Amino acid sequence: MFYVEYGEQQIFFDLEFRERKTVAIEVNPDATVVVKAPLGTSIEAVRAVVEKRSRWIVKNQAYFEQFLPQTPPREYVIGETHLYLGRKYQLKFVVQEKEEVKIIGGHLVVYGREQSSAYIKAALGAWYYKRALKKLDEAYKQVYPLFKSYGIGQPSVKLMRMKNRWGSCTVTDIIRLNPELIKVSMKCIEYVLIHELCHLIEKNHSRRFYELMSVIMPDWQRWKLKLEKSL
Ligand SMILES: [Zn+2]
Repeated sequence: MFYVEYGEQQIFFDLEFRERKTVAIEVNPDATVVVKAPLGTSIEAVRAVVEKRSRWIVKNQAYFEQFLPQTPPREYVIGETHLYLGRKYQLKFVVQEKEEVKIIGGHLVVYGREQSSAYIKAALGAWYYKRALKKLDEAYKQVYPLFKSYGIGQPSVKLMRMKNRWGSCTVTDIIRLNPELIKVSMKCIEYVLIHELCHLIEKNHSRRFYELMSVIMPDWQRWKLKLEKSL
């Protein structure tokens, strides 16, 4: 992970080199920043572009941050526990040139050159987001076939921060999932997806909706309860 200074704060960003012509900056819904640069671009050149767009980046981060769900604030300090797929992990920091995040035993280990809570927060945010993309897609592939006989379309799944919701389903059949779901168990994630997919068949929370839920996932109430208690 890299960063540039912007006034009092630091803007952390992930850098990916791609076969492309220009440098692109993306601000994810969880306020993490990804920069895509042409192969062979120097770090200095990338930094210069990011610095030039600092104002725009911070503005976009602020926009997304207003949707952040109100989960209890986590401290980005060593020993604090953080959730991943329904399990608690203790935060650990290891000094290392290569920046990465790994789960090792009961620890969530953040690697980096320098231990600062700003860096740890950014590194964890980026890691959680990447894991959310992967695991929520896995869960979707797991539950979608359960709806085979109902003749539903194949809605696309997008991640979006939502204040008090885990998921939503639009009339154009886009299922939106809260990336914070990466902190609850796979079963709870499946429950949210099944709930949203059921809405493609039954729009409202009618009796028929819950009957359908029970056909697809007989123990859905268990996972709903668990989800409500989890964060
Ligand atoms: Zn619903």
